[in-house]
Amino acid sequence: MTIQSIAVIGAGTMGNGIAQVCATSGYPVVMADISQAALDRGMKAIDGSLERMVNKQKLGATDKALALGRIRTATDMQVIADSDLVIEAATENVDLKLKIFAQLDATAKASAIISSNTSSISITRLAAATKRSGQVIGMHFFNPVPVMALVEVIAGLQTTEQTQSAVREVVARLGKAAVNVRNSPGFVVNRLLCPMLNEACFTLGEGLASAKEIDEAMKLGCNHPIGPLALCDMVGLDVVLAVMDVLYDSFKDPKYRPAPLLLEMVEAGYLGRKTGRGFYTYS
Ligand code: NAD
Repeated sequence: MTIQSIAVIGAGTMGNGIAQVCATSGYPVVMADISQAALDRGMKAIDGSLERMVNKQKLGATDKALALGRIRTATDMQVIADSDLVIEAATENVDLKLKIFAQLDATAKASAIISSNTSSISITRLAAATKRSGQVIGMHFFNPVPVMALVEVIAGLQTTEQTQSAVREVVARLGKAAVNVRNSPGFVVNRLLCPMLNEACFTLGEGLASAKEIDEAMKLGCNHPIGPLALCDMVGLDVVLAVMDVLYDSFKDPKYRPAPLLLEMVEAGYLGRKTGRGFYTYS
């Protein structure tokens, strides 16, 4: 099956980035969110991101206008009915996603593939919430979506080879690299990355060094382009905590327990860039 149109559920950080790259790659896109304000913010973010590409001469002004013209927005989920591929990028909450998947299954056409951008929820479990489990798959994009080159393509236990190859074709058309991963908590990147970010929270909480020094150490000592605490702020501390909780609950292994400081920062609402404060402050 060749995918010709795409629906994106959720207009937040990831949803608007995904809608943008789909539109610049020529796909007609519908972006749906329960919140009109989120859709407005999402479209503004896309406009700003495309404008920066125009200024850097990575995109023509006409191509920017064409890309924007390919995106429709809606608060009514019925708009996804004609899409060949749905990419769900709503808030990371298992009960919410199970509900959304049942709703998408009831609304999407029979041939449509339904995917999730979840960071940590089992694709096998989401697939089981539908009557088309073979056509459910994970498409794990990275933040910021227009910049990051990887999509983890996650096969649940039920996902067919046909679904996987159709999605790999889309990833290639988006100009990104697909890595095929079997469904497992945290997949590959977060399974390795989040315990490292969590350990950075332990080291800060234990007073080994300041946030700036911990980040400097990992940048200069490991050649990382960004320090782990600055990366926590970028990803969102609530997202890092949610992934650690999933790894801990799934494997029942104490090596995945969340750092007390990470938990406390989330309790305080210091979630990183999106709230203006995390391990650093942002204006
Ligand atoms: P976000 O909070 O920025 O956006 C979530 C959006 O979902 C909000 O606009 C919200 O209004 C909307 N939403 C909530 N319920 C909805 C519903 N029932 N129907 C439609 N829209 C609904 O979140 P985000 O950071 O963009 O994350 C979205 C997904 O992407 C999560 O599953 C997350 O784990 C995953 N992810 C995030 C990152 C990241 O770095 N932020 C990276 C990879 C994957």
